[in-house]
Amino acid sequence: MAKISINLKDGTAKKEDTLIVGIDLGTTNSLVAYMNDGKPVAVKNKKNQNTLVPSIIHFLPNGQKLVGNDAREKLRTDPANTIYSVKRLMGKSYNDLSAVSEYLGYEVLDDDTESLVKIRVGDTFYTPVELSANILSALKNTVESALNQAVSKAVITVPAYFNDAQRQATRDAGKLAGLEVLRIVNEPTAASLAYGLGLEEEEAKLIAVYDLGGGTFDISILQIHDGIFEVLSTNGDTFLGGDDIDRLLIDYWLKINGRDQQDFIVDKKKGQELRLIAERAKKTLSSQLLFKERYDGMNCQIAREVFDQLIEPLINRTLDKCKSALKDAGKTISDIQHVVMVGGSTRIPHIKESVSNFFQQPLFDELNPDEVVALGAAVQADILAGNQKGMLLLDITPLSLGIETVGGLMDAIIPRNSKVPSRAARQYTTSVDGQVNLKVAVYQGERDQIANNRKLGEFILKGIPPMPAGLPKIEIIFAIDADGILRVTARELRSGVEQEIEIKSQYGISEEDMAKMLMDSITNAEADLKIRSLLEARNEANNVVLATQKFLEQNDQILSDDEKNKTRALAESLKASINGEDKDLINKAMADLNDYTTPIAHRAMDVHVADAMRGTNLKDK
Ligand code: AMP
Repeated sequence: MAKISINLKDGTAKKEDTLIVGIDLGTTNSLVAYMNDGKPVAVKNKKNQNTLVPSIIHFLPNGQKLVGNDAREKLRTDPANTIYSVKRLMGKSYNDLSAVSEYLGYEVLDDDTESLVKIRVGDTFYTPVELSANILSALKNTVESALNQAVSKAVITVPAYFNDAQRQATRDAGKLAGLEVLRIVNEPTAASLAYGLGLEEEEAKLIAVYDLGGGTFDISILQIHDGIFEVLSTNGDTFLGGDDIDRLLIDYWLKINGRDQQDFIVDKKKGQELRLIAERAKKTLSSQLLFKERYDGMNCQIAREVFDQLIEPLINRTLDKCKSALKDAGKTISDIQHVVMVGGSTRIPHIKESVSNFFQQPLFDELNPDEVVALGAAVQADILAGNQKGMLLLDITPLSLGIETVGGLMDAIIPRNSKVPSRAARQYTTSVDGQVNLKVAVYQGERDQIANNRKLGEFILKGIPPMPAGLPKIEIIFAIDADGILRVTARELRSGVEQEIEIKSQYGISEEDMAKMLMDSITNAEADLKIRSLLEARNEANNVVLATQKFLEQNDQILSDDEKNKTRALAESLKASINGEDKDLINKAMADLNDYTTPIAHRAMDVHVADAMRGTNLKDK
């Protein structure tokens, strides 16, 4: 039965919260949805419009904050105090952001290149967790006033590739905003649920979820069978999305108007203004064939056809990732039965067309691509509330789980990306004659040394009968249930002596552990970040090598032999650096190649633009 509580401040009555809402905490926009008469709906305002909340925070001089649309207005007038794309900063170091920070209108603090980013606003430093909490509070207020009901429980979605630290950071942001986060759900799982995929018990289905948002691209291959969701593989690019399309447009206009990019970097207000015009142009072109505007003496004009050619390389990058994801899942295009489109950028007609051609089938794109994740989160919330019996959602473990062995080394028992629930066992023995106790310390992480991983807990298996070293057979069993709770059991098989602990590794932490876990996750994020940065640098370098090959092929007529040879040589050194362990070396080789090819690329671009102006089709080149 619903209880009523009275708000003593304004005298209004609020129903006690029985509702669990679904929240899509997005890079560009965030949204809340809830179940209404068995159907997920996005929260609407009094005018029955969607309350998509731009994920933007503005700090007023008096220290107060504006969130959402009001903050968006300030992007133009006060960019230094207006923060957007916070999700990109979750768990990232300054180093990882150096390539894009010049495009951010606000200041990312550069105190130590390997440490996690903080954002400086005036004299105050904010963490991405605090900033995300501001967005979540605004969403909480929106849904509470729309429904006139207190809301304190939520399901929040995250990209499937988010590591444990990033998931934990999202959970912490929820907690800071006064929300009990019942579950962190993968975005592609939520999107599929919004379309009702997997809600009916039927034969196994393979689904591709193509998610092109404002800042990120994700492709996920999901398998649903008997109402169970399993992420077979994920791929994507954390720096590819609508923002990049805006940037392509800006670069195009600067080029055709003969303007210097530096003017717009130095004058941040002007830069932001141009960014907003580019976004407007892009959206206009989703329904019209031409966009025309003037700004700062520039002709900001573009036709759909030219735009389509401009974004072709970006679309191809996403399709390359789709190929990799299929390969990782051990599947081919013909295995995929459904393709779900997510994210505002999938409104672009040329993207829809290209994805549909790639997967050789019609798309699931009828729902609003900005809402689909939140709607699915509401469905998941409903399942958690017990309203849809028999549904179980599976995730993958984002990090390996294992124990400490001799020399402080990590022995992974359940490797990362294993399905949940999962169970694995391994046998160990003693190293000292007559040893009667054995310490079992459980860790999570990808590093070889446990010191670099996160400790989840430990216990001591006592009462092993004294035997010569190497004789006892100690079996250690790791079992993770569907809620992500890890149970570790150690058993001496000859005597039957047994000990067990339960660890909530991913879902739910007690209030007391909150502060400690937050510190832990920050520490480990840094450690994991190093590996991740190397992998990311390798990834990017592979893309650059491929792009260079394409560039050489496409511009064969324009480049001199000397330029071709030098470009090839630099691409070769980049290729050689990819196999090494030094991310700085890879980045340096990438920068060398980039420095050398940028002026040539500009020259080639001039030729192409001149051709395009004359009406020649770039694709025909
Ligand atoms: P999301 O992160 O999913 O909220 O994606 C928002 C992105 O979608 C931003 O880059 C928007 O500029 C872009 N977007 C929104 N509407 C459209 C549209 N009609 N056509 C093209 N892009 C759009």
